[in-house]
Amino acid sequence: MRFHVITLFPEMFDSYLKESILGRAIKEKKISVSFTNPRKFVTGKYKKIWPDGNISAQVDDRPYAGGPGMVMMAEPIIKAVETTLRKIKNYELRIKNSKTKNPKPKTLIINFVPSAEKFDTKIAKSIVGKYTDIIMICGRYEGIDARVDKILKTKKLSIGDYVLTGGEIPAMVLIDSISRQIEGVLGNFDSREEERTSSREVYTRPEVLIHKGKKYKVPKVLLSGDHKKIEEWKKSK
Ligand code: SAM
Repeated sequence: MRFHVITLFPEMFDSYLKESILGRAIKEKKISVSFTNPRKFVTGKYKKIWPDGNISAQVDDRPYAGGPGMVMMAEPIIKAVETTLRKIKNYELRIKNSKTKNPKPKTLIINFVPSAEKFDTKIAKSIVGKYTDIIMICGRYEGIDARVDKILKTKKLSIGDYVLTGGEIPAMVLIDSISRQIEGVLGNFDSREEERTSSREVYTRPEVLIHKGKKYKVPKVLLSGDHKKIEEWKKSK
């Protein structure tokens, strides 16, 4: 699975993607994550060269008919996505010529919208079954010009009923949860919580924890060795 993130802030992903299971999945080439910054595609009056040589590229403008905040302009985002689509196309040509068994790329373009359909494990699994390339557009400010959705035919997704300052955390949520559904990413594929009876209550050593003079014990059933009872207890939690 190849993830392609359209973001003004690619550095935000550095530490999350370096660590633990995702870091290993990237090293072992089970997944890849690339970034394209819409600022690179800003042209005309929105791009300024200052007397000190610094270049600034404005990606947002005021909303039509007024309203608070700024809106991300469509063009830099569309160009960033089109550049990514070309990269995927080149990849497709390369695998065609090399006659490897890699599947033909199938791309899904996601735009994050707080009020959209809520992302869940079912969607994560269906994405793994259908697509090889996921392009995720990370909005900022008041969101992105609505014409992006129409032109790129995006799938709109939310990660929950709250408003974040940007789409970068939602993109990390999707990379993490979709990757867990790819065989070989977790050490033991069957250890996915989704595939076994998991409990919200878990315990480890010591059996009795003493805190401020009070004893906190591990539930007896977990020490019983009675698998049927343990499963029932887990389901009840
Ligand atoms: N004005 C927008 C609205 O009311 O829908 C909110 C914009 S929000 C401040 C900026 C960006 O953060 C959004 O464009 C989206 O990319 C992302 N975002 C914020 N909350 C989100 C959520 N719950 N799920 C997915 N994306 C979210």
